[in-house]
Amino acid sequence: MIAASPARIRAPNQLVDHLVIGGGPAGAMAALRLAAAGRNVVLIERENGPHDKVCGEFLSAEAVAYLHQAGIAPRQLGAVLIRTVSISAGDKLVETALPFPAFSLSRRVLDAALLRRAEENGCQVLRGVAAEAIVSRDGERLVTLGDGRSLSASTLFLATGKHDLRGYLRPPAKPTGFVGFKLHWRLAPAQVLALSERMSLYLFPGGYGGISLVENGIANLCLIARRSILRELGGWPQLLAFILRGNCHLRTLLDGATALTPRPLAISPIPYGYLAENMHGLWCIGDQAAVIPSFTGDGMSIALHSATLAARMFLAGKSAADYTAALRAQVSRQMTLATWLSRAAVTRAGRAAAFAVLPLAPGVLRWIAASTRIPSSSLIAGMGAAANGEL
Ligand SMILES: Cc1cc2nc3c(=O)[nH]c(=O)nc-3n(C[C@H](O)[C@H](O)[C@H](O)COP(=O)(O)OP(=O)(O)OC[C@H]3O[C@@H](n4cnc5c(N)ncnc54)[C@H](O)[C@@H]3O)c2cc1C
Repeated sequence: MIAASPARIRAPNQLVDHLVIGGGPAGAMAALRLAAAGRNVVLIERENGPHDKVCGEFLSAEAVAYLHQAGIAPRQLGAVLIRTVSISAGDKLVETALPFPAFSLSRRVLDAALLRRAEENGCQVLRGVAAEAIVSRDGERLVTLGDGRSLSASTLFLATGKHDLRGYLRPPAKPTGFVGFKLHWRLAPAQVLALSERMSLYLFPGGYGGISLVENGIANLCLIARRSILRELGGWPQLLAFILRGNCHLRTLLDGATALTPRPLAISPIPYGYLAENMHGLWCIGDQAAVIPSFTGDGMSIALHSATLAARMFLAGKSAADYTAALRAQVSRQMTLATWLSRAAVTRAGRAAAFAVLPLAPGVLRWIAASTRIPSSSLIAGMGAAANGEL
């Protein structure tokens, strides 16, 4: 819902054609697609420079394909190849080949590369500029900024991830009560070798997560945990100790490793399962359109896909409502399956079922990995069609 009563606008309003709010994968991809098609685009990103984000940093084949279309080769940025996926809990471990080659790359590097490409395509990127609110005034839609200025745009692409703006209320998703954490580690050479080409998932009471290598031999440990277990244990150090105590495989991978920051990055709330419906004329992309549960889904490829779809449909003269309906039809099945898996993974029964079934049929893991991705029939090929406004 857009607020009808405006927040105080302290400085004259500046008019722009197309405004993208948020410079993550969704915002950057939409901006570069529109700019490549010759449109006048401004993107605002509240962070001043490259920054870390809570993310497993796993790039599926679909995400990699969209990056290549945008002229970004993850390998050249230092991304490492992931060929296998394992799941562990306690002393149990199941491993299988992924049904597609994937990569792992830090968000600090990836997001910066995407914004650079948007600029190279002609988008004006304003860093360190935060949107405060979206307001309606005299039939115009304004975005007020943290520095007191305001921008009005004929088209607004909302790509602020899990962060909502004042004046635009995303309908509340069912609260999941999860907190997300991410911490980079320096490992010993033997541990780097053990983790090589592998996304290692781990389940624990009240949560689950993954660890994999990113560029420069750094390991990314990322997880979600129920707020209740975090409270019960007393905080992050206790949670990490609890997870390591309960999982000998993860303990071996991190034994003697050095955390690169004293504290992890954290994010909460995480509206898993949220799928946008009526966005009142806003083009909501990325996590503003759909929040698929982590490690059971494919958040970045949905971000890149939704941005590509939105830009393409906009250029073809379709409405934001048409786009929202198209995206829902394409991803709702994956969202349902991923949400169900995510809920099961944090229960004792779910963990028991996983280790009863997976050792006998590791193909199930491959099936899950394939079934929670964007269907290949929905993927959009090439920048040429977007640039020409074809649909
Ligand atoms: C624990 C966890 C693990 C995950 N692991 C994976 C994974 O391994 N692989 C995967 O594909 N996906 C993963 N995801 C999902 C993935 O991180 C998101 O789906 C993806 O980042 C969404 O991209 P986005 O561009 O929509 O939002 P974001 O990447 O969040 O970008 C939003 C941008 O908007 C900016 N912004 C916010 N508010 C404002 C404002 N008011 N004004 C201006 N700028 C603003 C932010 O600074 C940010 O740069 C994970 C998510 C979590 C929580």
